[in-house]
Amino acid sequence: AKAAGRNTLRLFDPDMQATVNARIELGTRMRAALERGEFEPYYQAQVNAGGQITGAEALARWNDPEHGVIAPAQFIPVAEDTGLIIDLGAAMLEAACHQLARWARDVDTATLSVSVNISAQQFQHPDFVSRVQTTLRRTGAPPDRLNLEITESLLLHDTEEAIHRMMALKRHGIGFSLDDFGTGYSSLYYLKRLPLDQIKIDQRFVRDVLTDPNDAVIVRTIILLAQSLGLEAIAEGVETEDIHRFLEQTGCQAFQGYLFGDPQPATDFTNALRQALSQ
Ligand code: C2E
Ligand code: CA
Ligand code: CA
Ligand code: CA
Repeated sequence: AKAAGRNTLRLFDPDMQATVNARIELGTRMRAALERGEFEPYYQAQVNAGGQITGAEALARWNDPEHGVIAPAQFIPVAEDTGLIIDLGAAMLEAACHQLARWARDVDTATLSVSVNISAQQFQHPDFVSRVQTTLRRTGAPPDRLNLEITESLLLHDTEEAIHRMMALKRHGIGFSLDDFGTGYSSLYYLKRLPLDQIKIDQRFVRDVLTDPNDAVIVRTIILLAQSLGLEAIAEGVETEDIHRFLEQTGCQAFQGYLFGDPQPATDFTNALRQALSQ
């Protein structure tokens, strides 16, 4: 799980991966793997200022019988290129909603939310809103504890339509996080218009926040921006106590990173959750 959580596994030769044929072949293998149920979400804890687990981000993993657990860097780009991301994303949403329903029933912390990454292609599919609603109904997951992580890339296509879809889902209680904030085509104009609940401070800014004064300014600014827009700021990629302390002192109220736990299979996360609750 460690290797998969930290992206250390290199399965495909980058030169090979660059060739179109190899990508098509991988795409075909992935489709078959998806049908065999080899993809599953791992869960990484999100904690509040008091250190309590308040959420879990679902992160896709490929359990390849031959190569073991494969991290998203190895397959998400190909899934995006081949359009498989739509079905893969739907499968991750379905699995995460099932898990959320189970946690709501069996472990209840009453507030634990589950965050699911939604690719722009998936979000832009004409049936996206109704598919999410169907998935919630089928799984019995509480909609107000489902959170969708989107990126600025989905605004490039049709911003009005994107806002419209977000509003439709928000009416059911679903929350929205803006992932990788500051790394894409951010516009403060869109930030103000989108019905968001949370901004995720990208790990690229968090990583060197204690040594790079520019990163420190960026992180501070994002936290202030979130506060003034009434949004929660969550820092991702928090690996050390020192970074955690800095973020806390800067006004950040939510954290995610190896310091609080690696992404892990649902059963392991459930055990960690139970243990945290019994303390
Ligand atoms: P992301 O959404 O920005 O997810 C955060 C990534 O940071 C995850 O990588 C996570 O394992 C990793 N991470 C967590 N804590 C730390 C830390 O303390 N330090 C460092 N260096 N990294 C940390 P992962 O799981 O390999 O996923 C990579 C990306 O793949 C995700 O980035 C997301 O963009 C994409 N992805 C993963 N699952 C899905 C999915 O189901 N659907 C879609 N569309 N994209 C997904
Ligand atoms: Ca994410
Ligand atoms: Ca919510
Ligand atoms: Ca991110």
